[in-house]
Amino acid sequence: MRVRQNDTVIVITGKDRNKQGKVQQVLPKKGLVLVEGVNIVKRHQRATAMMRQAGIIQKEAPMPLAKVMLVCPRCSKAARVGYRTLEDGRKVRVCRTCKEMIDL
Ligand SMILES: [Zn+2]
Repeated sequence: MRVRQNDTVIVITGKDRNKQGKVQQVLPKKGLVLVEGVNIVKRHQRATAMMRQAGIIQKEAPMPLAKVMLVCPRCSKAARVGYRTLEDGRKVRVCRTCKEMIDL
């Protein structure tokens, strides 16, 4: 998976283009990501035992992985991700722009 939880991503297309946010959840089987503050939808919420307050709530909706790109923590640019295998066998993600490792 190119994108993982707690990564910062940038939206590359759609109404939230150029917005950045932290990945809260990745849904690999559906090819979706949930990004903090991005793809906000309004939902009409009925009062339940869990949630006392009825009304309209705003909530992030999962969006297609294809619409986001990882923001490289080293060079702060939208990064194409490559992979490198370390000597100890670990596979780490690499930013193709600055060639730095994204994972430590
Ligand atoms: Zn980079």
